Amino acid sequence: MARLIIFTDLDGTLIREEDYSFTDALPALEEIGRQKIPLVISSSKTRSEIEVYRERLNNRDPFIAENGGGIFIPEGYFTQEILGEYNPVKIEGYQAIMLGVSYKELRAVIEELRAKAYRIKGFGDLSVDEIAEITGLNSYEARLAKKREFDEVFILEEDDMQRKEEIFRFIKEKGYEYTKGRFYHIMGRTDKGKAVRLLIDLYKQTFGDIITVAIGDSMNDLPMLLEVQYPFIVRKSDGSYDKVFEEYPYIRRADGIGPEGWNRAVLDLIRSKISTS
Ligand SMILES: [Mg+2]
Repeated sequence: MARLIIFTDLDGTLIREEDYSFTDALPALEEIGRQKIPLVISSSKTRSEIEVYRERLNNRDPFIAENGGGIFIPEGYFTQEILGEYNPVKIEGYQAIMLGVSYKELRAVIEELRAKAYRIKGFGDLSVDEIAEITGLNSYEARLAKKREFDEVFILEEDDMQRKEEIFRFIKEKGYEYTKGRFYHIMGRTDKGKAVRLLIDLYKQTFGDIITVAIGDSMNDLPMLLEVQYPFIVRKSDGSYDKVFEEYPYIRRADGIGPEGWNRAVLDLIRSKISTS
């Protein structure tokens, strides 16, 4: 019997954009718990921020932090034998697989840009209070959001499109990537898809036959959605699906905003022949 493995984004997908609530997804989450289906969180959030949600969700599965920069696997979850080839490092109860570049390196790029007189600021330049102010997080959460390892969030105070383009080009030429969600991010050549592919390999080696599912809502979820057999997107808070998915009609549209769509997609999947065949 094939095992179901679910990969999920957090913001706007499993948790609501407005109040970070996952109440609408509780029926499906309970079913996942009952059936012991692995639920892998894959987010642009930091390890520390995701740990808060894992605690709330009573989740003990591996997770992907900072847009694929790092994979954190609880010690003992996979055998040392299959993990070994990925050279994991032991960090605070995890076997971590680092795919991204160091935060220090990314900070150096931001500083280089500033030295060239571009008006750019990263979370590393902001105080906890300032981060709380611009994100709407409380100060505890803002502190966790500042604990970055593989991805720097940045704000451009340039209005001129050409100046912005120059910044993006500089980032690419230096060998890094940028992406945009609510804020801009700079990172190494990583994305959620590479991290998901690696975990799929580990699950296959562990369970043999698996069925893979991923749920997201935005552009940074696309690489992850392209790696699984059952990709789903949920509706954004205005009720629409992100335009980036228009070219991907085979990605399944879950009917519902955020966790409401998530709940429906997961329950339908579990109840369908997929999990019981
Ligand atoms: Mg999202």
